[in-house]
Amino acid sequence: MEYNRKDPGYRPINERLRDYRAVELQLSQDEIRRQASRCMDCGIPFCHAYGCPVSNVIPELNAFVCKGNWRQAMNLLLSADNFPEFTGRICPAPCEGACVAGISDDPVTIRQIELAIIERGFESGEVGSGPPSMRYDNSVAVIGSGPAGLAVADTLNRAGYRVTVYDNDRHPGGILRYGIPDFKLEKWVVERRVKLMEDEGVVFEMGVNVGEDISYRYLKKRFDAVCLAGGSREPRDLKMPGRELNGIHFAMDYLTQQNKKIGGEPVDPSKSVTAMGKTVIVIGGGDTGSDCLGTALRQGAKKVYQFEILPKPPVKRSQSTPWPMWPLMLRKTHAHKEGGEQRWSVMTEKFSGHGGVLKKLHCAEVEWRSNGADTPGVPVKRTGTDFEVDADLVILATGFMGPGRNRLVEELEIALDNRGNVKADERHMTNVEGLFVAGDMHQGQSLIVRAIADGRKAAYGIMQYLKVR
Ligand SMILES: Cc1cc2nc3c(=O)[nH]c(=O)nc-3n(C[C@H](O)[C@H](O)[C@H](O)COP(=O)(O)OP(=O)(O)OC[C@H]3O[C@@H](n4cnc5c(N)ncnc54)[C@H](O)[C@@H]3O)c2cc1C
Ligand code: SF4
Repeated sequence: MEYNRKDPGYRPINERLRDYRAVELQLSQDEIRRQASRCMDCGIPFCHAYGCPVSNVIPELNAFVCKGNWRQAMNLLLSADNFPEFTGRICPAPCEGACVAGISDDPVTIRQIELAIIERGFESGEVGSGPPSMRYDNSVAVIGSGPAGLAVADTLNRAGYRVTVYDNDRHPGGILRYGIPDFKLEKWVVERRVKLMEDEGVVFEMGVNVGEDISYRYLKKRFDAVCLAGGSREPRDLKMPGRELNGIHFAMDYLTQQNKKIGGEPVDPSKSVTAMGKTVIVIGGGDTGSDCLGTALRQGAKKVYQFEILPKPPVKRSQSTPWPMWPLMLRKTHAHKEGGEQRWSVMTEKFSGHGGVLKKLHCAEVEWRSNGADTPGVPVKRTGTDFEVDADLVILATGFMGPGRNRLVEELEIALDNRGNVKADERHMTNVEGLFVAGDMHQGQSLIVRAIADGRKAAYGIMQYLKVR
């Protein structure tokens, strides 16, 4: 009641547009302690029980921080979340949407408090306890080094299992490394955690495409259990006239290339895509689209538009998502504040060009019509709203369709659900004995914190399986 919520803010726009470094600032430790004191220690903490997918014990964390017991806070935080330095930076914080203080006031700055706890832990050298004192003979292979695979590996390694992580990329991290721009998550944060995991005994085998370079038969001979954590990266395409023109790219390809350039990895110059001096249209109004917008502005785009087919969300929490649900509402990311023009209820109908090169986008406005309270609305074109925009570069940030084709999944005839994700039982085991699944490959494209939560559950399933075998 005595303090207002305070957010750390961002670096000035004219400064941050000149580099790719993290844009969000951090609060001082004194301010973090004040912010933690805003927590009401509710009898039923919805933030913990409903909001946070890893069930961080938020009121107790706030109480420790408020009293300056940083070490206890860190140990408690790490007991639920393997990587608070990732979630503390890029989690959209569903916990804050479920904070009781948020019913009548601003919610507690839970994500910032989490980040302060873990960063103080790294600074003081208290994070990391070295290799476990006891090792089981059992070994586990994890395929994929995104947040889900890392969480499986970290949880099993700490429990004393021998873990090897395989990934076809050059460096570990999955989307943390290759999808999310540095201005949201600088890559030293990922490297610091991977180094710690290596020091604690996890082995990383990079540049290995499982199913192509090595077979499941090979893994089965060497390991007692295998966990798939290959993500969900099959992009949703816009199959419409002109799609074949040069100048139309998928968001993940575009973002991966920029992240590789920043990380000093080779990029084939003939395939290099840049927004420099171009009119760019990002199709898709979500977070991936916002990451593309921020990247295009940093590359020196002449003009950037972001088009979304859904209607503009309300400025305040929509009645369709009452507290403690994650509120549907208009969110302006830091990239939106940097420039570009956002438009909602816009449907793209075709691309046109000249000499095989993209020149224009042809669009129209839509109205969303619902047939009843429980049926999702359908977009209906509004007559007379057709318009066209010049475009040199179009980035498709229209979502993901599932894990896509995977040789190992096909050869082993692994069962999939109706959305194309890998099916598993309550232990996270697929229909193939000893083969588990975690993260986006299991639940569809989601959030870092959900990938970590799913990875932890898969690790517990694997431990249960290895114990009863
Ligand atoms: C552009 C973008 C921005 C995002 N921003 C956010 C954000 O700000 N906050 C948030 O919470 N969430 C965000 N997300 C969602 C989040 O990144 C994902 O939900 C999360 O990374 C999923 O983790 P994962 O480990 O399941 O898969 P991934 O991170 O996709 O990792 C899968 C790994 O498996 C490897 N792999 C796949 N097949 C094989 C094979 N056969 N052999 C070897 N290796 C293989 C891949 O190379 C990859 O490294 C974003 C997603 C995107 C695309
Ligand atoms: S991981 Fe995300 S949801 Fe959980 S406490 Fe942290 S910011 Fe909130």
